[in-house]
Formats: sequence, structure tokens, C-alpha cells
Amino acid sequence: MYDPQPSASHYIDGAYVEDNTGTPIPVIYPATGEVIATLHAATPAVIDAALAAAEIAQKQWARVTPRERGRVLTRAAQIMRARNRELSVLETRDTGKPLQETLVADATSGADALEYFGGVANGLTGEHIPLGDDWVYTIREALGVCVGIGAWNYPTQIACWKAAPALACGNAMVFKPSETTPLCALKIAEILTEAGAPAGLFNVVQGMGAVGAALVTDPRVAKVSLTGSVPTGRKVYAAAAEQMKHVTMELGGKSPLVIFDDADLDNAVGGAINGNFYSSGQVCSNGTRVFVQKGIKEAFLARLAERLKNAVIGDPLDEATSFGPMVSDRQMQIVQGYIEKGKAEGARLVSGGGRVDRDGFYLEPTVFADVTDDMTIAREEIFGPVMAVLDFDTEAEAIARANATEYGLSAGVFTRDLSRGHRVIGQLRAGSCFINSYNDAPVEAPFGGVKASGVGRENSKAALDHWSQLKSVYVRMGDVEAAF
Ligand code: NDP
Repeated sequence: MYDPQPSASHYIDGAYVEDNTGTPIPVIYPATGEVIATLHAATPAVIDAALAAAEIAQKQWARVTPRERGRVLTRAAQIMRARNRELSVLETRDTGKPLQETLVADATSGADALEYFGGVANGLTGEHIPLGDDWVYTIREALGVCVGIGAWNYPTQIACWKAAPALACGNAMVFKPSETTPLCALKIAEILTEAGAPAGLFNVVQGMGAVGAALVTDPRVAKVSLTGSVPTGRKVYAAAAEQMKHVTMELGGKSPLVIFDDADLDNAVGGAINGNFYSSGQVCSNGTRVFVQKGIKEAFLARLAERLKNAVIGDPLDEATSFGPMVSDRQMQIVQGYIEKGKAEGARLVSGGGRVDRDGFYLEPTVFADVTDDMTIAREEIFGPVMAVLDFDTEAEAIARANATEYGLSAGVFTRDLSRGHRVIGQLRAGSCFINSYNDAPVEAPFGGVKASGVGRENSKAALDHWSQLKSVYVRMGDVEAAF
């Protein structure tokens, strides 16, 4: 019988590994506050074993044909789809996100990435560049041993979005999940082994920031891909730069969602709900600064208040529940602090603002109106269910204010005037943008930020450039001319 709970803390060289001497990591179910497992942080010996296994596996894997590499990833995708329910329950227990969401957004998204890069692997080729009688050819080579470090909000998706393109390109990976949600990545490792990945190709080690830092600075590591906050990104990027390593940084955001007077009201409200309350607002690309043109503002707030009443807040394992708890007590307290700041700085609280009366780390979906650009809740990433609604008059004003942030992950526009939609999006400085939609993330589209929100792109063919490097080979067909 398939056991949905991982059987040990780490997954190294094709098997579960425990080392009880590492610092204990309690795994807490956010809906109740119960401890559902206790893992251990990786000791230096565990980190070393993972990197050593990855180094051996990578050399062998890089020599496997891309087609065969793709077949392994495709098989892993099929296994994930077949086990979607068990994996979704585990994701819900790890994160507290409602099963209604995890059934369609986590293992399925991970499987999409494995399937997509399984297919793309077939098309990995170099180029032939004719130079008269001579020519150059290029070889797309793996980088080597890569490190993935994950945030806590999408543990399955983050592991797969990093592993799938990395492995397709012939790399091996050591992945460190967030200590807050450490369970799901272990199942991905188990599934990759079952799908035929050689032992050591995808390893998972647990731990806090210090384990991540040890991986980043190890000379055996060629690349680091981090999903996390901007402050962590700065540290990891700087540490990687010391040894001139490749990096991908998927960091935080404070993204604008601009709603014009002519927008379809229900679609705009739906976009704002998806961009603020899905996963209890714990999504990096959320459109948390909702700029609403003055003519539609009151109608927007009224319709939003009506639709928020339909949120089903409750047990995340009940499929009827559409809004669950925050991931941790700590994250709940951070968000409560922002709600207090919003009130103190003069924003108008129009919905929510408090805790939900039940066990676990539940906060109500919260909306502030009359927010101004200088308020803390309009400037800092909250990472919780708090929407800030700001008014504007003109298109030029909305663009200037939307861009006045250090972040640049996402941006959205709702308008029936499609030329305006394209014109505005063209001027918004963000990597992942939406017109009359919000927060879609198909694997076919590049995903990533500009400015402080990161460097590099995940997903799509663009990811291949971040997980491989080109060797160019000049071939001379005639004699070599030399000066002496
Ligand atoms: P953190 O930045 O706190 O942590 C991210 C990961 O980095 C964790 O695994 C953490 O370990 C690890 N880490 C911390 N310090 C170091 C270090 N010095 N060296 C190496 N690794 C380290 O982010 P959160 O987990 O709190 O996640 C929320 C953040 O992630 C938000 O800012 C959000 O916007 C961003 N995010 C970005 C996404 C994107 O694709 N752009 C998607 C999802 C989230 P540990 O926490 O276990 O100590």
C-alpha cells in the first residue's frame, strides 16, 4: 500500500536517510497547530553525502540521451497524476492550503513541469554555424550539481519547477525545502527514483537557513536556484557570486493590479480575489496593490464585499473549504502586525481584519480601502490575505504609481479596451503579467521577476538557458596561418 507520509528526514542516493543528531524540525499542521511529524536538520555529514551522491549521479546522467532523460521525467509526471489525491492531502497537511486548491494546483502543476520538460528534453540540440570552409558547432552542456532552495508556500510545485528543467538538461540536484513545509519534496524524490532516475540524481536535505548556506557555498555546486524573500535572495546571490555560480532568484513582490472604469466588474473582482486570497494570500505574484479607477471604486468594493461572504473558511481537508489557515503561527503574527499598521496609518478597513474563531492559524480575508502609496501595507510584501485598494484618476498616474516599487514580479490590468490593456502592460515593469486575468502560471510561459523580484526565469523553454551552458567549438578545415 502506498504510504503518503515520508519515512525519514532526508532522501539521499536513492533512499531515505535519518540522522537523529540533527536539530529537530517539528512539522505543524496549520489547521490545528498539532505536530504531525518531527524531522531533523541535516548535519554536515548528511550535506556531504547528498552532494557526493549528486556529483556521481550527474556524471552518469549527463551521458544519458536527452530522450531517455525525458522518458524518466514523463514517467514521474504520470506517477504524480495517478497519486494526485495522496500528494494533495500531504501538501494540505504540510501547508494548510485547502484540498480544493491542492487537488488542482500543486501535484498537478509539478506533473505539468515534469511532463513539459520531459518533452522539451527531446529537442535539446546545439547549433551549426557555417563560416565558409570552417564552422562552429555548439553543445548545450549541463551545469553540474545544482542546488534548489524552496519557500514554504508551494513545496511540491517549487521542487518540481526546479527539478524538471534541471534534470532535463543533465544536471543533478540537492534540494532544501523550507523547514516550515519539509514533507512534499521527499515524495518527489521517491517518485523520481520509482520513475527510473538514478540514485543520487535528486536528493532532499532538510534544515534551516544554515543548511541552505552550506549548500550554496560548497565548491561542488555549480548553480543555485532560490525561491524565497528578497532579503534571503540578497544573501544567497552574494554567496553564490563569491564562487561565480549561476543563479536563479524567484523572490518576493508587491504587484499592482490596475482596474479601469470600463472593466467587467465581476471579472475584475474575481481577479482581485484570486490575486489576494488564493492560498490565504501566501503567493509571491499576488496583486496586492489593487489600483481602482475612481468611477468604479464603490461598485468594486460593494461587489467584493458580497463575494467575500461566499468564502468557505474551515477544515482544509474538507473539499468544500475555499479558504484555509496561514502556514504558521509566526506568519499569522507577521500579517496581524501589518493589519494593525494599516489601521494605525489611516487605511479604511472594509472587510475582515481579525482571527477566525477556531484552532489553527486562521485570519479573515481582509480588505483595506483608501490606501495611499506611502502606507506600509502599500509598500511591503505582507504574504497573507490582505488586499490594499488604492484609487486613481488617469492611466498615466496609475502606471507611474504601479511602478513606484523596488519589486517587479507581476502586474495585471482589467479593462475592456484591449489597446489600453496592451499599452499599460507594456509600460509596467514586471516579469509575469496579465490582461483581464490574474495569477495564471502555465508551465509553457516564462515565470520570474524584474528589479528586486529576481533574476532568471522558471518554466518554458526560457528555463533551459538557466540550467545549461553552451560550449562553442571552432573547427578549422584548412591549415593554420600563424605570424611566425
Ligand atoms: P525565506 O526567504 O525566508 O526562505 C526561503 C528559503 O531560503 C528557505 O528554505 C530558507 O530556509 C532558506 N534560507 C534562509 N536563509 C538562507 C541562507 N542564508 N542561505 C540559504 N538559504 C537560506 O522565504 P519564505 O520561506 O518565508 O517564503 C516567502 C517568500 O518567498 C516571500 O517573499 C515570497 O514572495 C517568496 N516567494 C517567491 C516566489 C517566486 O517564485 N518568485 C514563489 C513563492 C514564494 P528556512 O526558512 O527553512 O530557514
